[in-house]
This record gives sequence, structure tokens and C-alpha cells, in this order.
Amino acid sequence: MTKMDRCPICNVAVKPENLIRHLNDIHPRHPDKPGLLEELKEEPGRIPQKRAGRPIRIRRWQIAVVAVIVLGGLGAVYLPPLLSGTPAFPCIGQEGVGLVYHWHTDLSISSGAASVSIPSGIGISTFCLEPLHTHDATGRIHIETQTASLYSIGDFFRVWGKSFGNPTAMHVNGTAVTPNPSVILYGPGGVETIHLQYDSFS
Ligand SMILES: [Zn+2]
Ligand SMILES: [Zn+2]
Repeated sequence: MTKMDRCPICNVAVKPENLIRHLNDIHPRHPDKPGLLEELKEEPGRIPQKRAGRPIRIRRWQIAVVAVIVLGGLGAVYLPPLLSGTPAFPCIGQEGVGLVYHWHTDLSISSGAASVSIPSGIGISTFCLEPLHTHDATGRIHIETQTASLYSIGDFFRVWGKSFGNPTAMHVNGTAVTPNPSVILYGPGGVETIHLQYDSFS
């Protein structure tokens, strides 16, 4: 037999873990109820284990699960540019430090009659500054490399994650050339401006 308690108000026999509910259900407006509840809540075993409305207890494994989901989500955001799309180029350690050269080429792109905006922050992520990157949305490509490597306009498109595709026209330093992604940005003469015309760029 379970030990039974008696309700201090109506003296009916009640299981200890049901006494609080009994007071709430049967004597909701009794003047002694609030005081009795306060005392009972202090006593162990009064609050049934499965009571709804019981405060949610967060366990360590639940925190771990949430952490895994959040970190997984961040990874999904930050890792693809680094892992997929060709780990394009080794990250340079720090802006402007130990560079073999630092060059700028201004890129402009037209899609039909519209000009395409080239966003700031291409090649720059939390974990990596790539040797080809943009610091603003003017189309200025910064080439900052710690190795004696040369980079092409196609390399910039790889960092950007866009396809060079099939431009209908290409101008290098203002001169029309056969469109091709292997034009080197820094090199003999140096490429200061590139314009690409597409029927439709996406
Ligand atoms: Zn830079
Ligand atoms: Zn620069």
C-alpha cells in the first residue's frame, strides 16, 4: 500500500504526490491554499515526476545536439566556398604582409544593356583571404599574392564562384580581344581594366 496523506482542508485521503493537484482542483479559492502550496512545494516527492508545466530541464546531451546543429549550419555556410569550387588558392596570411606583388584590375561586366554589380568581399571569408579578392563593390580586383604566381581573370571567376561562360565581347585595357578566361591580370604590361559583355550574365 502506498502511504497516504490527508488533505489539511477536507481531510480526504490523497496520495502524497497528488496533494498539490488536489488542493488546486478541489480548493482553488480556499484562503489557506496558497500557504499550504508553498510549504508542500518544499517537500520532496510532492511534485509528480511527469507533471506538465514542470520547468523544462535542459540536459547536457541536449546542449550538445543543439551545438552540433548550429555548428553544422555555420559549416554549411562557410565551408562550401573553401572546400568546393576548387580550394581556389592558398589563403594569404594577412592583408598586405609578405606579398610578392599587389596589383589591381578593374573589372566591369554588362549583361545586355545592364551593368552587373560585382560584390564586395569576394575571396574574403572568416577563415580565408584569397589572393584574388574585392574590398568594395566597384569591380576592383585586388591581386595580393605571397607566391610568385600569376592569376587570370578566369581564376577570379573561380574565386567568385561564377562561370566565365561565353562573353560576346571582351576589352582588355580598352582593346577588343577574343573573349577568353586565361588573360593574366598581372604580367607584362599589366591589365588595368577588363570589360566583359554578355547577352545574359548570371
Ligand atoms: Zn586586399
Ligand atoms: Zn589592393
